Amino acid sequence: MPEVVTLGETLAVLVATSPGPLRYSTHFELRTGGAESTFAVGIVRLGHSAGWISRLGDDEFGKLILAMMRGEGVDVSQVKLDSEAPTGVFFKERREAGESRNYYYRQNSAASKMKPEDIDPQYICSAKYLHLTGITPALSPSCLATVERAMDIAKECGVLISFDPNLRLKLWKKERAIPVLLNLIRKADILFPGIEEAQILLGENEPEKIVERFLELGPSIVALKLGSKGALVANAHQEVYVPAFSVERIVDPFGAGDAFAAGLITGLLEGLSLEEAGRIANAMGALALGVTGNIEALPYRDELIAFMSGNPTIIS
Ligand code: ADP
Repeated sequence: MPEVVTLGETLAVLVATSPGPLRYSTHFELRTGGAESTFAVGIVRLGHSAGWISRLGDDEFGKLILAMMRGEGVDVSQVKLDSEAPTGVFFKERREAGESRNYYYRQNSAASKMKPEDIDPQYICSAKYLHLTGITPALSPSCLATVERAMDIAKECGVLISFDPNLRLKLWKKERAIPVLLNLIRKADILFPGIEEAQILLGENEPEKIVERFLELGPSIVALKLGSKGALVANAHQEVYVPAFSVERIVDPFGAGDAFAAGLITGLLEGLSLEEAGRIANAMGALALGVTGNIEALPYRDELIAFMSGNPTIIS
């Protein structure tokens, strides 16, 4: 049984191969994307076991995602193929100047039909960590109920809950998202907020205050992501600022947060200190920025070690 279990939607991603407004894009690359599945692959590449609970359409994209996750070594025994709803899709626009936009076609997707009965309590209870994000509860009422059920199961059997709020204002309104996310945060043990979403969730600007407030809500570890500044990682006894690794060029800004979470949980699984785990997390986040695609960017253990020691592998 996997050491880490996660749950969430993975979509097919069509990435425009040349920059410009999506309506003029004529060529696309087919990739896959999903916060939780990226996290799961990150855990596996660093040498631990992970399982992913989800629903996919029984269609070409669903089969692609399932095969890819299985090929990466993630346990997919809890993924259901649904013949009545499609796999979600999104299109990624590319712009050289200004912000690139994503266009989602995920409403009524197979994953949005996840329900509490999909979860086998035994599966969660045999893990050490359950990782969830704030994307899933935004997908549908039944997805919210599924996340709540997964958390309740984990609590009952003493599995630690790790949670990334991942506030996505494209999926739901702030007024609805904030109370739901704060409720889920109260049940979490390890929290991965980004500085911007933390400011929205708490109405607080100072990193130290943010961490303090989240610790008061319930989590025992808070790893506040500070982008190019690294992270502030804290528990009730200590607060450590862990500086970022320097990144020469950002090729793809997406997926850094998921890689970061996989790095921190790996550190905790291995009994490392907050600072050491935070360093692995920052290295994972930095490496995620250098490669197009989310899963594509995740390092294997030897690549991570080489990056962290400043000795890039020499290939002759
Ligand atoms: P999210 O992707 O969840 O919004 P961040 O953008 O803060 O989160 O990135 C997550 C982590 O990735 C950061 O805490 C840091 O470790 C690393 N990171 C992000 N941007 C940079 C950067 N420009 N340089 C170095 N590391 C970065």
